[in-house]
Amino acid sequence: MPDRSTLLRVEHLRKVYESTNGPVEAIGDINFTMHAGELVCIVGPSGCGKTTLLKCLAGLLRPTSGLVEMDGSPVTGPSPAMAVVFQEYGRSLYPWLTVRGNVELPLRHKKLSRADREKLVTDALEAVGLGHAARSHPWQLSGGMQQRVAIARAIAYQPEIMIMDEPFAAVDAQTRADLEDLVRELHATRNMSILFVTHDIDESVYLGERVLVLSKSPTWVQEDLAIDLPSERDQITTRALPRFTELRTHVYDQIQRAKRGDAVAAQPAH
Ligand code: ADP
Ligand code: MG
Repeated sequence: MPDRSTLLRVEHLRKVYESTNGPVEAIGDINFTMHAGELVCIVGPSGCGKTTLLKCLAGLLRPTSGLVEMDGSPVTGPSPAMAVVFQEYGRSLYPWLTVRGNVELPLRHKKLSRADREKLVTDALEAVGLGHAARSHPWQLSGGMQQRVAIARAIAYQPEIMIMDEPFAAVDAQTRADLEDLVRELHATRNMSILFVTHDIDESVYLGERVLVLSKSPTWVQEDLAIDLPSERDQITTRALPRFTELRTHVYDQIQRAKRGDAVAAQPAH
């Protein structure tokens, strides 16, 4: 059995931005926990507060109130226990460094021997299928390959959790399917804990063991849904299962209700 101890705990998280037009309440009240070794998807409509939530979790943004705990300790700033993969792979890689140099860069902050560092980089590049591209520069690669570099960088860092913010929103459909399968594979073969944020309902159901459905902004967790699909998934068979259709229709319906605002009545009292 994989280790299922509590990894991440979020309690009454709230975020209000102070803007020139007055306060913007992005996150209303978010509560959930995630266990080590889980692959959890967070799905919600555009603008509902997903990136805000993710930045609060990763210690990149200070919440207005509430608690984020990683391994039982409050998160107060960027933590070596977390690696984040953003949507904009083009901006997250350094064009003057090779692929290997990009993956290695964050490791320079860790106390590792050169040999260990090189081994981690080689292993991470192999894991994402880019062993052959180590000496290339990011701009010589396709968008999908660039995002693989960003994922390799996160893997090499050996975080306790990898957090991904709509990482495949900007690539074509076939590349996206391949990258989704890479995420499933990393989870299965390396027992990685992954929190995957997306606005794509089908993607959340295909990838997740659990899907947290967010309401529109100011957001809260409208549903915490177990995805009872077989753990061996593939793009053709899994997406053709009647249960897949049931689950994606259920999530779709929840999100439509949230957009209309009639789910608010169902919000549990805290
Ligand atoms: P999502 O990632 O789900 O699309 P965001 O977290 O980016 O949503 O944004 C949630 C809400 O917060 C939106 O209404 C957005 O306009 C607002 N928002 C995001 N960043 C800021 C900011 N720096 N200042 C003010 N409002 C912001
Ligand atoms: Mg976003």
